[in-house]
Amino acid sequence: MSEDLLKVRNLTKKFGTITALNNVSLEIRNNEMFALLGPSGCGKTTLLRIIAGFEYPDSGQVLINDSDLLSIPTRTRPVNLMFQSYALFPHMDIFSNISYGLTNTSLTKEEINNQTNEIIEKIGLGEHVKKKPNQLSGGQQQRVALARAIARKPKILLLDEPLSALDKKIRQEMQVELKRIQHEFGITFIIVTHDQEEAISLANRIAVFDKGEIKQISTPQELYENPTNEFVANFIGEGNILKATSTNSGFEHPCLGKVNISHSMGAGKSVTILIRPESIILSPATTGAGQITDAVFAGAKKNITIKLTTNEIVRVYADKSANLEVGSHVNLSFNPQDVRVF
Ligand code: ATP
Repeated sequence: MSEDLLKVRNLTKKFGTITALNNVSLEIRNNEMFALLGPSGCGKTTLLRIIAGFEYPDSGQVLINDSDLLSIPTRTRPVNLMFQSYALFPHMDIFSNISYGLTNTSLTKEEINNQTNEIIEKIGLGEHVKKKPNQLSGGQQQRVALARAIARKPKILLLDEPLSALDKKIRQEMQVELKRIQHEFGITFIIVTHDQEEAISLANRIAVFDKGEIKQISTPQELYENPTNEFVANFIGEGNILKATSTNSGFEHPCLGKVNISHSMGAGKSVTILIRPESIILSPATTGAGQITDAVFAGAKKNITIKLTTNEIVRVYADKSANLEVGSHVNLSFNPQDVRVF
């Protein structure tokens, strides 16, 4: 058996004239925290719903441990979906909401009680068992939904925008909690999100989607440092995307000059370059490549905005003590190794 738990192969799903998924393939490993990331309408939820068994693809395969998943009835698939709305039963107390996930199984009443208590203990809901969902905070309700979803010990837990209903502070706490729970229960999590910060802080690998297609699958660090296309460069992290012309030994930009960097695009082509804000060093100049239009104190750093003479806008993270005033002219320098060309 391969170390891949789930294999998605050449999956296509259309809704009328809309192609929600276009020949999508990916592999998800055992115990991964895997994120499906992309803008609204790019097909992430459709993929999640196919894995859960609520949609069926037009073509392609989904394998779990190398066996066909799509032929397994929804109810008996070793996967579970945690709904964005939590979908808790308002009239049931927390214990019953969680144990509900174990009814209609071969477990005895005593086994259901024991398994429910074990999960309540591990997820830290002990003091709330007798309460109803409306007596809990948003973060606590989410823990209940999570406990119910993993009560059956699925191989894969699917989470659709799990943190979107929570405010920022609780979101950050729940990110840590989700990682802890995933680790403790050893269940593979597949998380759908449109929030790149959330995907980066939660997932060990991310598939970046655009218009029903996967643009890149990688670790968060690799997506940030080595995006393979302009879409990913734009979508992950803050970046300066500029237009330049390729040369045999790199590229040339009207304000940045000639830069040596290897690429395989040939000379004289219009190319896009990516430089991250932390990779740029500014130096004062009488008439420089650009002029500072904004300088904002941001704790450990200063966020500087520059308008280049090409009218392109560049953002730079400068040292908080840097003497960079709005209106002053600057030149930009950087290590060519920190630039990506598309
Ligand atoms: P969001 O983050 O907004 O939920 P998404 O990336 O999850 O977006 P999907 O929900 O998978 O995107 O939708 C992909 C495309 O398929 C969209 O254009 C959507 O309108 C369309 N779509 C999804 N489900 C259906 C359906 N049942 N009937 C018709 N069109 C659908």
